[in-house]
Amino acid sequence: MKSLYCSIFGHQYEVSKNITYHVKEYKCSHCKSQATTSGNGGLTLLTPKYKEINSVLERIHNKRISRIKRQASEKSTENLLDFTPHFS
Ligand SMILES: [Zn+2]
Repeated sequence: MKSLYCSIFGHQYEVSKNITYHVKEYKCSHCKSQATTSGNGGLTLLTPKYKEINSVLERIHNKRISRIKRQASEKSTENLLDFTPHFS
């Protein structure tokens, strides 16, 4: 529901959730209407469709982060075990 304040001054969006580095969900602090980052970098209303897209994005993003973290820890173990110098 749009409040009178919002119809005059526009929504006061605050970040409610970080989906990826680039995509966030926002909530208006006055009327609680929700928005998200759209494809062109602007804001768009958070429809059920966008909610669905964001949850997929979030899952992929988290998976990627945990994979990078795992790779990083594997790499540091490798380096610890590998004492032979490489001349390549
Ligand atoms: Zn609002």
